[in-house]
Amino acid sequence: MRQKIVAGNWKMNNDKGETKQLIKEIKKSIKKLSLKDTRVIVAPTFVHLASAVKRAENTKIEVVAQNMHQSKNGAFTGEISADMLKSIGVKTVILGHSERRSYFGETDAILAEKVNAVLENDLETIFCFGELLEDRKSENHFIVVESQLKNGLFHIEAAAWKNIVLAYEPVWAIGTGETASPEQAQEMHAFIRSIIEKRYGKDIADNVSILYGGSVKPSNAEEIFSKPDVDGGLIGGAALNAEDFTAIIKAI
Ligand code: PEP
Repeated sequence: MRQKIVAGNWKMNNDKGETKQLIKEIKKSIKKLSLKDTRVIVAPTFVHLASAVKRAENTKIEVVAQNMHQSKNGAFTGEISADMLKSIGVKTVILGHSERRSYFGETDAILAEKVNAVLENDLETIFCFGELLEDRKSENHFIVVESQLKNGLFHIEAAAWKNIVLAYEPVWAIGTGETASPEQAQEMHAFIRSIIEKRYGKDIADNVSILYGGSVKPSNAEEIFSKPDVDGGLIGGAALNAEDFTAIIKAI
């Protein structure tokens, strides 16, 4: 079912004490909100995931992973498997973030394998994709987004879409302070739904949640979230501050 979601990607930020403090502040500030139809997600770094899961128990906060390896186990120094995440109570994994694609060489083919590992383990993924600035300038953004989606996801069975949340993140808007206009976000989200509909049918296209990511902040969240095909946001910088993150949750 299509859900409203505000997800904070903490990236490589927050030590042990800061993680504890931020969870505590978010817990406190969302307590009074009526969130029955909205999911609140945070993605701390791997090293603090287990403690964050514990701290978020019995609250509306879901703690998710920023990445996962595609193999079950083995000689993959520094990597984390689905079993490891499940063993500490993590149910959702962000995949395909543009920083993973550009700094760590994650290709569409690798991401397709990671998606398979997510599904085999009955996890959920927040699957990220989006065009570079040069793609938009050369008006290739629809082609790029379509190919990222098809290569990463269109091999899955229809039933698996219940485990998929999409996050459209134009790379030129991530951490730059530059946001896609609400109209640009809506245009792309509607396009994404249309290509899913062509391959999987209207029901699946209508029910998948599509988040927007790229410099969302309290001052622009409401307008972006007001667009009919935008179901929430994946938030970077503004998710590191409880007050800003809560304001963005309120905007939805
Ligand atoms: C992100 O990294 O997913 C992101 C959207 O970052 P920011 O909100 O800082 O642009």
